[in-house]
Amino acid sequence: MPTLADASVAELAAPSSPKTRIPVTVAYGDGIGPEIMQATLRILESAGAHLTYEPIELGQSVYLRGMSAGIEEAAWESIRRNRVLLKAPITTPQGSGYKSLNVTLRKSLGLYANVRPAVAYAPFVRTRHPQMDVVIVRENEEDLYGGIEHQQTDQVVQCLKLVTRPGSERIIRHAFEYARRNGRRKVTCMTKDNIMKKTDGLFHRVFQEIAAEYPDIASDNLIIDIGAARLADTPEMFDVIVTLNLYGDIISDIAAQVAGSVGLAPSANIGRHAAMFEAIHGSAPQIAGQNIANPSGLLLSAVMMLVHLGQPEVAETVHNAWLRTIEEGIHTADIYSPEISRVRAGTREFAQAVIERLGQQPRTLRAVEYSSALPQQDEEVEYETPRAPALKQLVGVDVFLDWRGTDPDVLGEKLRAAATSRLPLSMITNRGVKVWPNGLPETFCTDHWRCRFQAPADLKLTTEDVLALLSSVHGHGLECIKTENLYTFNGEPGFSLGQGQ
Ligand code: NAD
Repeated sequence: MPTLADASVAELAAPSSPKTRIPVTVAYGDGIGPEIMQATLRILESAGAHLTYEPIELGQSVYLRGMSAGIEEAAWESIRRNRVLLKAPITTPQGSGYKSLNVTLRKSLGLYANVRPAVAYAPFVRTRHPQMDVVIVRENEEDLYGGIEHQQTDQVVQCLKLVTRPGSERIIRHAFEYARRNGRRKVTCMTKDNIMKKTDGLFHRVFQEIAAEYPDIASDNLIIDIGAARLADTPEMFDVIVTLNLYGDIISDIAAQVAGSVGLAPSANIGRHAAMFEAIHGSAPQIAGQNIANPSGLLLSAVMMLVHLGQPEVAETVHNAWLRTIEEGIHTADIYSPEISRVRAGTREFAQAVIERLGQQPRTLRAVEYSSALPQQDEEVEYETPRAPALKQLVGVDVFLDWRGTDPDVLGEKLRAAATSRLPLSMITNRGVKVWPNGLPETFCTDHWRCRFQAPADLKLTTEDVLALLSSVHGHGLECIKTENLYTFNGEPGFSLGQGQ
């Protein structure tokens, strides 16, 4: 795959002069994809969007031609050239052997920010939370989504959770910049740093550092479990939420559902070199080709694209016409309700109704105002705070063993015999719980043992010390399956303690 390092965001997001048409790549997708894309493009054209559209093929037909990634070289070239993709949903064929195209697109294009507004349109779309208006900014590349998984013993598999300082800085700054540019007042961070003190702890710390640079925006932090509960119960209390990949994946679906409008929800996937805009719903194959699908999620994604491309006036015109259509009770079947709706519209008729209302403002719902919003130009923002690397010192090693015994004291004795004078055994844990020395007989143990060897204070360890220890452990008939070096950074331990240590 060619890289995108040569692409420039300035070109990508530069506001266009009224006569310049910006080329964007469009993927019509599968199932209801083609009909909602046609409806969306018709509205964009009628609204005078300064765009040209370059179609590419993605998804099912490509998968079925034997391309396991669901995308071909010509499509990559188009996306790389235009740097903006408007994508309809695709159908992922059942069965293993097919890679998630969305994950491939996000990671290959470096689309680190997943921005999902979840808005209630009461009283015109049913919701228990009429005041809800939340934007979730989800980190899109890191965390448990690195796909780095291993089976290490007969009983144990692991997935590596990676959180980086530059990745955290980027997404958190993106959230604050988004808030500032869109007149939002508060950014809430959600983490689980009471348990994951290093990974989620870093994200939270970076959040506090960056929040201090935005005194005009309020900030707070919630543990993800109570945060998700509050989001489901009192979403009105939130404005912008920034969080890690897995939590963001889960809470953005909760938010869309609670808003009462999964079929209406848009999303933007933003990177430094490219951006992708799509509805959050799937390809709904069971209703494909019947002219009943709701094009709103894709249309509102296209509105986000127009803002991103520096065409806020067109974005505003389209969005306000759409709001007017919704409040006039012209609804597709998925949100139709005899008490609220006036017209049950097909996909094409709904698009036509929006076109007829271009230039009109909503009467009850709050009109949107994008004209003063600048496009989010990431290159303007200092994404990585320059900082001197910390002083890193090797102080020990965790050696992971595949051991079929059951008594931790027996393993402790074997390891004390294998330990070296420079790296004595300090603890053994099983699934993170200390079982030696002085473990509890009640603790359940698997065949996966983490054995910590720590150097006496002030001793300067080297890699040779670790290798000598591993050689000795191996020589004592024990099977090492992996190691993690223990470091301090500026004297602070870069590793967690064992539970009960
Ligand atoms: P889905 O979102 O396609 O459908 C869920 C329900 O919502 C169905 O009842 C469907 O009819 C309805 N629905 C969805 N969008 C609608 C719309 N615009 N108008 C009216 N009704 C709508 O989810 P699913 O059934 O789990 O997935 C179907 C396929 O879509 C699968 O192959 C899945 O892998 C794929 N998918 C793709 C994407 C994507 O491309 N971004 C996202 C999710 C699912």
